[in-house]
Amino acid sequence: MSPRLRVLSGIQPTADSFHLGNYLGAVRQWVTLQDTHDAFYCVVDLHAITVPQDPALLTRRTRVAAAQLLGAGLDPARCTLFVQSHVPKSAREGQEQASVGLFTYPILQAADILLYQADQVPVGEDQRQHLELSRTLAQRFNHRYGQTFVPPQPYILAEVAKIYDLQDPTAKMSKSSSSPQGIVDVLDTPDVIRRKIARAVTDTGSEVRADAEAKPGVTNLLRIYSALSGEPVATLEAKYEGTGYGAFKKDLAELVVASFAPIREKTERILADEAGLDRILADGAARAHRVAGQTMAAVRERIGLLPLRDR
Ligand code: ATP
Ligand code: MG
Repeated sequence: MSPRLRVLSGIQPTADSFHLGNYLGAVRQWVTLQDTHDAFYCVVDLHAITVPQDPALLTRRTRVAAAQLLGAGLDPARCTLFVQSHVPKSAREGQEQASVGLFTYPILQAADILLYQADQVPVGEDQRQHLELSRTLAQRFNHRYGQTFVPPQPYILAEVAKIYDLQDPTAKMSKSSSSPQGIVDVLDTPDVIRRKIARAVTDTGSEVRADAEAKPGVTNLLRIYSALSGEPVATLEAKYEGTGYGAFKKDLAELVVASFAPIREKTERILADEAGLDRILADGAARAHRVAGQTMAAVRERIGLLPLRDR
């Protein structure tokens, strides 16, 4: 039996909650891939601080992010869940932390992906270009020093690769740049979810029909509906023929509420036991550190860096 392929992906603790785009574009695939892959997932706090963050908020959001991933279905028995900054990028035990000032976001990302020797990286469409850099760096290093890094492949599902802002269906739904009304958060209460979907921008006319050019708002909602219900977009178009937008949005809101309620409840339970959560993350960090340490040892040897001896 051949060993499982490895997947690795991360999410930034840049908001109080993940949103529908993060969930459909990335996190839901992470949950599925636990069963078929050797899975590594992290909260990328070092990425978050490439722009200024409030320190106390960053700490809190890092825990909330990890709890939400567990709430969404990551299982520490089937994956390695860790916080990026808990794994030093040095082969030496725990002493040197990555100096973030030295890295720009894509370089930092490439370093992380390559460190874990990921075969595939489940992400949304916005990350495709960044990933290309990781592949290029892996190939260049391998060419020069011999096979060392796995060049990672993007794992992107076309139908959910880019979920759009509910208020501006030409822009990606984004934690840090969408308005609150443009985002449905996984941790939003049912009433808030209903209100946001009811107010989502739709297009002229009243037909529930997918047409990315002419009807970007409705098309986005149809894709979300289809991804959550498993029904093809064509089936939904037929189901809502002649009903107008109202009934469609109402059903979609209930679908989102029903999808997120169990995640929100489980996230709250996990956050109530902070020590337990921190233990899961410490465990994950130890596992991740072993893999990263092996890679770094190989890298140092290939390059010819003199090993530091124990005193
Ligand atoms: P920020 O605005 O802080 O960058 P973000 O919403 O882009 O936040 P990230 O933490 O950068 O979220 O990304 C986490 C994962 O979610 C990545 O794999 C990213 O590609 C995916 N993702 C982010 N936004 C969307 C979206 N609108 N549709 C599909 N996938 C998305
Ligand atoms: Mg982003």
